[in-house]
Amino acid sequence: MSNSDFGLIGLAVMGQNLVLNVESRGFQVSVYNRTASVTDEFTAKHPDKKIVGEHTLEGFVKSLASPRKVMIMVKAGGPVDAVIESLIPLLDKGDIIIDGGNSLYTDTERRDKWLGDLGFRFIGAGVSGGEEGARKGPSIMPGGPASTWEVMKPIFESIAAVAEGEPCVFHIGPGGAGHYVKMIHNGIEYGDMQLICEAYNIFKAAGFTPEELAEVFTEWNEGDLESYLIQITSKIFAQKDPETGKPLVDLILDTAGQKGTGKWTLINAVENAVVISTINAAVEARILSSMKDKRVEASKVLEGPKAEIDIKKKKLVKKVHDALFASKIISYAQGLDLIAAMGKEKDWGLDLGKIAAIWRGGCIIRARFLNDITDAYRTNPQLENLMLAPFFTDLLNEFQENWREVISLATLAGIPVPAFSASLGYYDSYRSAVLPANLLQAQRDFFGAHTYERTDKPRGEFSHTDWPEVI
Ligand code: NAP
Repeated sequence: MSNSDFGLIGLAVMGQNLVLNVESRGFQVSVYNRTASVTDEFTAKHPDKKIVGEHTLEGFVKSLASPRKVMIMVKAGGPVDAVIESLIPLLDKGDIIIDGGNSLYTDTERRDKWLGDLGFRFIGAGVSGGEEGARKGPSIMPGGPASTWEVMKPIFESIAAVAEGEPCVFHIGPGGAGHYVKMIHNGIEYGDMQLICEAYNIFKAAGFTPEELAEVFTEWNEGDLESYLIQITSKIFAQKDPETGKPLVDLILDTAGQKGTGKWTLINAVENAVVISTINAAVEARILSSMKDKRVEASKVLEGPKAEIDIKKKKLVKKVHDALFASKIISYAQGLDLIAAMGKEKDWGLDLGKIAAIWRGGCIIRARFLNDITDAYRTNPQLENLMLAPFFTDLLNEFQENWREVISLATLAGIPVPAFSASLGYYDSYRSAVLPANLLQAQRDFFGAHTYERTDKPRGEFSHTDWPEVI
């Protein structure tokens, strides 16, 4: 048998599906997994495919055509370094290692330098789309040297999803840029999911059944909210539990987990002094959800109104639609703002229009409105904030009344809507020509002599007051 065009290490859910995807595009693929039985099971399941299973890393490396292209799809963190360390003595200079897992971008930058210094070529690529995306076409966000990308381009373009005739992959930028953009993508995914959950909570308080919600979400998925997450949510509401016949969603415990990309996004936002309050609220909502026992105890002593909303269902559907859409715009505005800030800081030369374009297919956040985001940045690559693109300004102006009403209804009924509220808070702050930070500056000057600028003097001229003593 000839040498393989591509090699993949790590045959868990993502790895297996990516191998099948690459193979289906006409490439021969060698595979290796730490636990050899997994390799055997996988190759036995696909006897007719051009997949070569290897039990040793030596055999795996030998089975690859030069320059070798080795993709690592193992658990992020230490395992990636462990695999790279075992590969180094076996590879030749010029061979390419691709880390396709959810690695922290700073790890990717470290590996890029480490491997580059040794004469290897390295790509850190974020892959989004879960199992189905990996198999049928994910959105891929590769970072690393442009010359290495050129070598990988034919394979990556052939396996990526296609949206509006364009492959959902392009060279994001050098070093950790690809994994960085994937991290923010995941943060945005957190925001999208939490916003949908808040809409669900409001609907529940207005008496909607899961069956009714399946209809609402199916309808929404035929309109401007069309997206993968809205679509799967409609299917979730329609799903019955085979054991009890009840709607499955009602039987699932309300505690959510997280793997870390949301938290990393928040840390990075703070480091860059960029507000991502919607994503922040989404990460915190998961944390609060995980405190189930504490919440149950608190629910017995802390009072609030009855979680009931009394409004015509059809009317509420429209209002919640607007609140959800407006909040979603804010979440993307914040996420893209962070990407822009970091891109500038690192001099990555990021193209926000192209980034939005590759999120239109294959990935979890794919949505119709990413076409409009793409258009907004293609029309004005220097766009200061997504909210200020005329298309989105018009939508926000149209939605803001219902958005406020939904948050008011929820708040009066004691229903937590942290991501809806955080989004509206950002919108109102951003559009406020005057904020109460004058008082804040006075306080800072009072206790710390931090000085302040005055409205009646030129900017950049600082004043200080000898404030009265506090006894
Ligand atoms: P995973 O559960 O994150 O990792 C399991 C794989 O890692 C197995 O092949 C395992 O080998 C291997 N592994 C773990 N520790 C290892 C070590 N020290 N040395 C060698 N191999 C080791 O798998 P996954 O869900 O397919 O995800 C793979 C990567 O893609 C992760 O970074 C993940 O965050 C990212 N990702 C996942 C999804 C998703 O939907 N699952 C979506 C996008 C991105 P053994 O079989 O020997 O244990």
